[in-house]
Amino acid sequence: MINVLMFGPPGSGKGTQSVTLAKKYNMLHLSTGDMLRAELAAGTELGRKMAAIMSAGELVPDEVVIAMIAQKIDSTTGKTGFIFDGFPRTVEQADALQNMLKERGMKIDLMLVLDVNDTELMDRMKKRALVSGRADDADEAVINNRIAVYRAKTEPVIDYGRRAKVSRTVEGIGSIDDIFVRLCRHIETII
Ligand code: ADP
Repeated sequence: MINVLMFGPPGSGKGTQSVTLAKKYNMLHLSTGDMLRAELAAGTELGRKMAAIMSAGELVPDEVVIAMIAQKIDSTTGKTGFIFDGFPRTVEQADALQNMLKERGMKIDLMLVLDVNDTELMDRMKKRALVSGRADDADEAVINNRIAVYRAKTEPVIDYGRRAKVSRTVEGIGSIDDIFVRLCRHIETII
């Protein structure tokens, strides 16, 4: 099993690229954002509790996403590995993931970091707001907060990957296809 972490700020294209990478390499795409939005859409108690946090662009509690991920890892069969998208988002989540994988005889094999500047990010998010219907895309202050939360809480996880020598920075500007090729090149080195 190979485990790939997809990193990058909101709007960097993690989700788009993760879906196609997962198909190509028969991996399971695990997006905590998608899982949380599914809870919201289904109107579960958890979804209702998380709604305000998400629409403010803040992070939901670590234990919530850690439990979601553990459940998915344990219920998956027939895949070559996992692509983690939007998780881990804090150093605590990264520690939890590392332990979870270790207990199951796996490790983090690769961390792909999409590099996109803030001006381009704002531009993309404004365009996405017109089609996504997401409350957290609709408001410029919330988008700014999500980028700030990323810089403060999630970027330290990249140092974690650097120390473990698994992180690779990938230029996240260009056509979707070109970026896909860049990402595939790195995945090919671990399979
Ligand atoms: P984006 O990367 O575009 O910000 P996501 O779909 O990954 O969007 O996440 C949307 C929201 O869901 C986040 O702003 C946060 O509130 C919540 N969320 C998703 N993943 C996590 C996580 N790993 N830890 C805490 N909160 C999360």
